[in-house]
Amino acid sequence: MGAAATYFRHLREAVVSIFDGMAVSASHLIRRPYTIQYPDRMPVRVQDTLPFRYRGILDVDLEICTGCLACDRACPIDCIAIAIEKNAATREIVISQFDIDLAKCMYCGLCSEPCPTGAIHHTTEFEGADFSLESLIRRFIAEPVVAYKAKKGAEPDVAVADLLTRGMTYVDEWAQPGSDKPAAVAAAPQAAVAPVVPVPGPGK
Ligand code: SF4
Ligand code: SF4
Repeated sequence: MGAAATYFRHLREAVVSIFDGMAVSASHLIRRPYTIQYPDRMPVRVQDTLPFRYRGILDVDLEICTGCLACDRACPIDCIAIAIEKNAATREIVISQFDIDLAKCMYCGLCSEPCPTGAIHHTTEFEGADFSLESLIRRFIAEPVVAYKAKKGAEPDVAVADLLTRGMTYVDEWAQPGSDKPAAVAAAPQAAVAPVVPVPGPGK
């Protein structure tokens, strides 16, 4: 084959391959997209599709926190900083600091397992990006609050009772492997309030 024939064969192959490539590209103009733009075009929030026990960003319901420090002690890398003191006159426990450093947190769940009321719990929220390490320290207390104390009978405050129900459902779910579907939450029985762990003092 002569040089001219080889040249024109390569030329024809180049043109054919260009049209092959362009045909694939052009076909995507009329296809439905495979991807979905996140997050504003999702049909439902991703967070709402996650299991109840998903280990997302931690939250604390201070209304049902007994100040027992169990979570603080359980954290293997000291993400949690809680300061409590006992009011000698009222014998109440006052919590003046409850911080969680999300920059250090490894979402292991060890802090939420021993919580007697489910006050500290993971959420399905995972969007935690921020601009500084300092802003990743979640401070749950602005002013000192009195720690929750379990009542002898039913909890009279409806809002607190609802939090306790949620918290105890969360605690129960930890003990039930396989019940990690959102539907299991709706079907979960109303749980009783767990006994409050004695408070040994502010030291770890
Ligand atoms: S999830 Fe783990 S690392 Fe994060 S605060 Fe709880 S115990 Fe600590
Ligand atoms: S009640 Fe729960 S959140 Fe509060 S200090 Fe105890 S373990 Fe932590």
